[in-house]
Amino acid sequence: MKLAKRIGMIKPSPTLAITAKAESLRAEGRDIIGFGAGEPDFDTPANVKAAAVKAIDQGFTKYTPVGGTNDLKDAIIGKLERDNGLAYKRNQIVVSCGAKHTLYNLAQVLFEEGDEVIIPAPYWVSYPDIVILTGAKPVIVETKEEDGFKLRPEALKAAITKKTKAVVINSPSNPTGAAYTKAELDKLAEIIVPAGIIAISDDIYEKIIYDGFSFADIAQASEEMKKLTVVVNGVSKAYAMTGWRIGYAAGPEEIIAAISKIQSQNTSNPTSIAQKAAEEALKGDQQIVSVMVAEFNKRRNFIAAALNAMPGVSCLNPQGAFYVFPNVSGLFGKSFGGKVIRGSGDLAGFLLEEANIAVVAGEAFGSDRHIRLSYATSMAKIEEGMKRMTAALSKLA
Ligand code: PMP
Ligand code: GLU
Repeated sequence: MKLAKRIGMIKPSPTLAITAKAESLRAEGRDIIGFGAGEPDFDTPANVKAAAVKAIDQGFTKYTPVGGTNDLKDAIIGKLERDNGLAYKRNQIVVSCGAKHTLYNLAQVLFEEGDEVIIPAPYWVSYPDIVILTGAKPVIVETKEEDGFKLRPEALKAAITKKTKAVVINSPSNPTGAAYTKAELDKLAEIIVPAGIIAISDDIYEKIIYDGFSFADIAQASEEMKKLTVVVNGVSKAYAMTGWRIGYAAGPEEIIAAISKIQSQNTSNPTSIAQKAAEEALKGDQQIVSVMVAEFNKRRNFIAAALNAMPGVSCLNPQGAFYVFPNVSGLFGKSFGGKVIRGSGDLAGFLLEEANIAVVAGEAFGSDRHIRLSYATSMAKIEEGMKRMTAALSKLA
């Protein structure tokens, strides 16, 4: 059968693919430890589940307004005011089926052929493909490890052309864990505002930050910058709600109305029950988030130290999110069983075969010198996984 050309232009999500692969190997009886997809291993908080059960019991199981209920929009407005000091009206908020869906809709309403979208690398795997599906061109701007994987204002400036429509800012970052300070974002805003391009601020890891880091969003830089920013966020990561599929955007009315319009022709509203749960997550007790972050922090410190102790591996201690992105290029050129490790894909394959651990090759994130491990898994699995990785790497010669 001849499928539409666009489907040949993208790849399946590599982070989801590695998780599916680990699952199928487990089904075959292999004992695989998964460091693949980034998904909190904690249960969804009890108060959130209770809100969903109540929604079902009360028959809140029908279509809702396409862009989300007013109650959820008000909870989001409250969150943005409380946590970020950003004021929005209801017509500046739209709720979708996960932040990935929000980003997809946003790209569909903003970009078309001839447009360029700046994506700093290393980047989350889905950004380039979401852009490609609109006919626009992703412009990848490399960041340097010695800059903590953060986009420098000069590099942003140099990448902007007449065709540039937007830049994606993801802080804390998936996959590097890099997080921008307010001062760093203010500097980027000084480039973005005069250029008049849109900033897509993907704040999905906002709550998962360490060492007292203070989260900032680029919209806080100035009123002008806020008018050019679309904040994208959701409940998946902060509240261990990946399966509930609730994400949202806050930004200029025109863009938000356009997202609602396109959503009315694809998914309609996000699930009514999940909206009630998300409302509770945003309005209810926030203490649970700190409990999860404290646990992530212990794992981060352990896994970064374990990786740094491996010869040929070096790893920055991430500022946020729940990934480590070690540089493994010191292992390239080594071999095992006649097979030479030439890049991140070879190493990920070797680790799956020889260590029974699933990691994501850095090439999927735009850096072939790294691999990504999610530490959103139990400490026991991390300890065992690091032991296995150390043993497997010692076999490389
Ligand atoms: N942005 C980033 C950077 C992510 O890592 C993810 C991971 N799923 C998402 C957006 C999408 O999150 P979700 O669709 O689960 O809300
Ligand atoms: N965002 C997570 C990850 O990068 C979950 C999978 C996905 O949506 O890509 O692993």
